[in-house]
Amino acid sequence: MQLAEHLGVIIKTPNEIEGLSKESSELLLNGEASTWSAVTLSLGDKHVVIYNPSHAKSRQSNDIMHELSHIIIGHQPQQMHSYELGLLLRHYNADQENEADWLAGTLLLPRDALVKIKFSKMDHDQAAKFYGTSKRLLDWRLNSTGVNSIYLKKMQPA
Ligand SMILES: [Zn+2]
Repeated sequence: MQLAEHLGVIIKTPNEIEGLSKESSELLLNGEASTWSAVTLSLGDKHVVIYNPSHAKSRQSNDIMHELSHIIIGHQPQQMHSYELGLLLRHYNADQENEADWLAGTLLLPRDALVKIKFSKMDHDQAAKFYGTSKRLLDWRLNSTGVNSIYLKKMQPA
């Protein structure tokens, strides 16, 4: 992903982490596979985003973008847990989570894209596929940005 490269962030799946114990990677990929999205490990000012490849692609893009958003905003994690390999697992508070969700949605589906989708009467399933996001994210963005209501107002006969 170009944005990650630009930020100097490395993106990996648990399988690709050298030195992560077999038990941990099994747990992440099988045992706990449905319960986590993505985490960011920090070593000094280097960040590694580890995402869960067992989710749908559309969810992966949001999960990764969410983690990158924390880094872009410069969120200071509330707690740092030391983890294997002397890496630190970052934890955020609820406000920081909301901000990261918001920025991730904005980066994946900018307002211009939403206007284009709505006014070209693009099918929502197709649009979500085109932008590599979930339909749920698309619907949330259309509502939260007001693009839906602007469209409805414009379509009303005068
Ligand atoms: Zn988060």
